[in-house]
Amino acid sequence: MNAVDASEHYENVASEPAPSLLAIVLDINPHAWALLEEQLPFSKALANLLVFINAHLACNYTNEVAVIASHSQRAAWLYPSHNQQKPSPNLLDADGDVEMNGHAPRSSNNNNMYRPFGIVEEQVTENVRELLASTDAADVSATSTMMAGALTLALSHINRRTMTWAETHGNSNIDTSNAPTGSSTTSGSVSLGLQSRILIVSVSSSTDSAHQYIPIMNSIFACQRLHIPIDVCKLSGDAVFLQQASDATRGVYMSLKEPRGLLQYLMMAFLPDQRSRKHLILPSRVDVDFRAACFCHRRVVNIGWVCSICLSIFCEPPENGDCLTCGTHLEIGEYELRPAVLAKKRKKRKTRLNGSATPTPTPTPTA
Ligand SMILES: [Zn+2]
Ligand SMILES: [Zn+2]
Repeated sequence: MNAVDASEHYENVASEPAPSLLAIVLDINPHAWALLEEQLPFSKALANLLVFINAHLACNYTNEVAVIASHSQRAAWLYPSHNQQKPSPNLLDADGDVEMNGHAPRSSNNNNMYRPFGIVEEQVTENVRELLASTDAADVSATSTMMAGALTLALSHINRRTMTWAETHGNSNIDTSNAPTGSSTTSGSVSLGLQSRILIVSVSSSTDSAHQYIPIMNSIFACQRLHIPIDVCKLSGDAVFLQQASDATRGVYMSLKEPRGLLQYLMMAFLPDQRSRKHLILPSRVDVDFRAACFCHRRVVNIGWVCSICLSIFCEPPENGDCLTCGTHLEIGEYELRPAVLAKKRKKRKTRLNGSATPTPTPTPTA
């Protein structure tokens, strides 16, 4: 029984507060949101998400956020806007200069709002409006979503911010790269690096993401290497690859039974950052769908053929036995008889030794 002592929670108060970067990938496939309209309209979901973002920004004044839309045909930035370097024409006066009247022209109607909240809300809603306005009929009927592109954008943004942060704060990321859980060891005066995580709010079904299998898996492996957890908030359907993403990166996966409670789920399950998560029992998933998609047709397969050289997966033996990826000629013998993985059913011999289970010692926090 541990003594009740909360001092470890406050050991970093003296040092510089370590910021946390939250990159949100919002699936805005219009088709999928239309199906969800009765339970959770898109406008309400977006409002909930903005409240969640505000909560994240309020946790620490150095916290950062990035929002990326995964639309049906492309991925786009919602915040920070990378295409708003030049002011829109209606803000310019007759000479083409920006009107300087002491306050930001758009956020003038909510002066009472904390400024970082206002900026995020303004840009996100404005960019969503632009994105939806530019959506044509082909986009609406498409059931796919550009998850791979959005994940890549999130990763590149995180990478850039991490490097910038390390440069300005002179912090080497040695300790974070060595830590197994992605959380850097806290040791007094050492200021911590930027901690990043990705949250995917997903509504599209998994069957259409099979053609993006390879780029999605590459993003997952990149996150795994960089210790970036991918959290998944699944509002409808179930996505094979997103389960694998959160499982491989030790993120939180939740498939919401009641999408109307989105805000509550976001606040309870997804708000804690990596440091807080060490002290929490997180919702985890045991029945992860580990199926892969074949490289030849992008079909999700239960049993496939794997090239022994490049590990490409095929749903059927490739023509002439030549691997479609690396071109190696493969010896495919009696494959029609029985797949090798099901050849023998051997009973596992249970060897239970008394007292063999060694309890893992709980790490004692170093002051
Ligand atoms: Zn195939
Ligand atoms: Zn191969």
